[in-house]
Amino acid sequence: MDCSKLIRIAGLGVSGAYLLNRLSSEGIECEGYDPRPQGFPVPCGYALNSRLFFRFCELASLESEKYVEVVADDVVFTNSAGKSVHFSPAGLATIDKNAFLEDLVTGTKHHRSRLKDMETDLIVDATGVSRSILGPVEQDFTMRTLEYVSDPTGYSSFHFRFFPSGSGYHWIFPLKNYSHVGAGSDDLDAIRDSLEGTPHSRVLSRNIRLKPLFESISSGNVIGVGEAIGTVSPITGEGIVPSLECAEILFQILKENDDLNTILEKYAEQLRQSYSRYLRLFDLLMNVRGNRLLSLKNIGAISPAREDLRYFGIEASLTKIIAALL
Ligand SMILES: Cc1cc2nc3c(=O)[nH]c(=O)nc-3n(C[C@H](O)[C@H](O)[C@H](O)COP(=O)(O)OP(=O)(O)OC[C@H]3O[C@@H](n4cnc5c(N)ncnc54)[C@H](O)[C@@H]3O)c2cc1C
Repeated sequence: MDCSKLIRIAGLGVSGAYLLNRLSSEGIECEGYDPRPQGFPVPCGYALNSRLFFRFCELASLESEKYVEVVADDVVFTNSAGKSVHFSPAGLATIDKNAFLEDLVTGTKHHRSRLKDMETDLIVDATGVSRSILGPVEQDFTMRTLEYVSDPTGYSSFHFRFFPSGSGYHWIFPLKNYSHVGAGSDDLDAIRDSLEGTPHSRVLSRNIRLKPLFESISSGNVIGVGEAIGTVSPITGEGIVPSLECAEILFQILKENDDLNTILEKYAEQLRQSYSRYLRLFDLLMNVRGNRLLSLKNIGAISPAREDLRYFGIEASLTKIIAALL
């Protein structure tokens, strides 16, 4: 990218903050905007694959170990019939996401306000589920979530309990001094019931996008990154590492290219390559929700599901995935 051009990034969650860090360190003129006060938490379980996360810390010149809170020693999936299956952790951990976000933007040009000045060479929409700059798309798919900041669990196992017919799940993720207990679903009663009686000091809520929007990644001089364009696993809701990866892809393309059409072409192509499993997993989710369990397409989605769980830091055999997810 021509260094005299200015890139403005709206949203300083993981994707925007990481992109701002990478562009700034390359000497590319850029500024970030987010009205969220520093340290104010956005709802998120803070769970990810630490092995993949470390790579992005290194690229952002941050010391990775300091963010790790609890490394999983067991992963328990309970299906809607109440049957529990134990998976082996392969890097799954929780992190101090707020500290990571703060460190990413240290030393960069950023403003704790919304982006108002649209007169610029390139705008990046990193505003997550709201797609504040790019705007809504007709065929979107989001679920509601509610998350409690709860007492420490005292153990290092991570729990997922799935609701019937692909309607969401309940999770318990341990952190050092507390835990995240939450649920995501389009059925508000299922969310409330699953959280009933859980002690909590804070309640956080927002929708999560589970549909890849790779056909709606740009508009004029605006390019989307992270959850704004659906880099979230349709089956687990994992979005931290996928959004970091998406921002790294965009960074590499911006670094090497000037022409907007070329940038968009290369970006679209890379997204198709890196996230093709999300398209298959979104179809799987829709089939499960539509009670089309015996569809042949579902069998073809088992292998991407396994790949996706491994990406999240969970090792699973095909039979265990079938038992847990279907
Ligand atoms: C309850 C819940 C639990 C989750 N748990 C996990 C988990 O355990 N692990 C995992 O990997 N993923 C999890 N996710 C998903 C993950 O949090 C997101 O996918 C990921 O954070 C997306 O990053 P992002 O930077 O694209 O968007 P966000 O993190 O949502 O950041 C968007 C930012 O844009 C800002 N913004 C909004 N509008 C504007 C505007 N007009 N101008 C400027 N700024 C604006 C917001 O203040 C926000 O800071 C969870 C999501 C939810 C809702």
